[in-house]
Amino acid sequence: MNKITNHMPTAELQALDAAHHMHPFTAGAELAKKGARVITQGKGVWLTDSEGNRIVDGMAGLWCVNVGYGRHELGEVAKRQMDELCYYNTFFQTTHVPAIALATKIAELAPGDLNHVFYAGSGSEANDTNIRLVRRYWDVKGQPERHIIISRKNGYHGSTMGGGSLGGMTPMHQQGGLPIPGIVHINQPYWWGEGGDMTEDEFGLARAKELEDKILELGPEKVAAFIGEPIQGAGGVIVPPATYWPEIQRICQKYGILLIADEVITGFGRTGNWFGSQTFGIRPHIMTIAKGLSSGYAPIGGSIVCDEIAETVGGAGDFNHGYTYSGHPVASAVALENLRIIEEEGIIDHVRNVAHPYLAERWKALEDHPMVGEAKLVGLMGSIALTPDKARRAKFASEAGTVGLRTRERCFANNLVMRHVGDRMIIAPPLVIKPEEIDVLIERARKSLDESY
Ligand code: PLP
Repeated sequence: MNKITNHMPTAELQALDAAHHMHPFTAGAELAKKGARVITQGKGVWLTDSEGNRIVDGMAGLWCVNVGYGRHELGEVAKRQMDELCYYNTFFQTTHVPAIALATKIAELAPGDLNHVFYAGSGSEANDTNIRLVRRYWDVKGQPERHIIISRKNGYHGSTMGGGSLGGMTPMHQQGGLPIPGIVHINQPYWWGEGGDMTEDEFGLARAKELEDKILELGPEKVAAFIGEPIQGAGGVIVPPATYWPEIQRICQKYGILLIADEVITGFGRTGNWFGSQTFGIRPHIMTIAKGLSSGYAPIGGSIVCDEIAETVGGAGDFNHGYTYSGHPVASAVALENLRIIEEEGIIDHVRNVAHPYLAERWKALEDHPMVGEAKLVGLMGSIALTPDKARRAKFASEAGTVGLRTRERCFANNLVMRHVGDRMIIAPPLVIKPEEIDVLIERARKSLDESY
């Protein structure tokens, strides 16, 4: 067998891919027929494929390449760390400088008393940690019956048994025995799709009230925590009404329920602040982080934990949980360098400046397209709802997602990566996107909408 490289013909790479690589969230047999697009290089917001096409990555990979592709400093740090100490565990009374330095930096950046980091290899793993951590916390507090976690339909918290259970994705729950016991879901704050005659503000309060109703139905003494993404990402970039989070916060406080903000997408600059919780005024007890923590240059995630939980759990003997790669030195060193780049290059200020008004105006202008209902944007995270009738916020007669898929395929053909979730189109480009690149993104998006209409 010859060495497999970028220089092989695309069809050969696709055939090997189909023969040996099982893709996540993919119908393997269907993909094998048409062949996966082979991505060979990245620089800034641009990808190159094996046919030499230059693609605007409107999704920053999977919402993660915040500092853009091709930052050689990150590779250099990884190499240096591999040479110095490629691996050591943090389980048995040992630690190392990259894990210490990164946790210290994260604690400095995180708001309030979120001062402690429990590392994981991904967002899913971090949410599994959260399930065990909050239950352990209540055990230690002498309230072991407080074990139920409330989450939301159409939320996404990962793909492990725990993460997939916290998530409220019906297609995931239909496979493989999800959800695990002790996790219940309430409705999402999706005004455009589900708000009926209510104003956005009324709807935000109504959906938050479902949390209180559920707590009272279950018994507050049984509820450990509520988890939510500040903005639902994989569910379709669903920006909650302004009334939603303050009310959720109030209800959690009233019943003494822990609040977990899943910041895997919204963390590290995406919404124009370090964390989405700051953008929405949420004061969580735990934040889930991953993706933008290392800009996807190394797999790493974690939970940022408040003083009270860390001290309670830490003061009660071993917390019997962890991963071989918790605080992996190379991933930690890369993440620290990534945070240095975000901070020193003023990337979060750049997000604010480029998002408003530049992208916001152009994004909103897509609402003049006959097929576009609402166009929402917070920082560099946006969505548009496709509809046959904006005034009625109607759904298409075809099976849900058909028009979205068609539009996504047109985008792909026009060398723009934009994702669809049902009939919502979403973007989350690298945070370093420049105004002239936004122009290309918008122009390709509009062309694709026209072709799909
Ligand atoms: N939480 C949120 C909000 C996510 O968007 C994701 C992934 O998209 C996850 C958790 C899971 O992270 P990972 O895929 O790194 O396991």
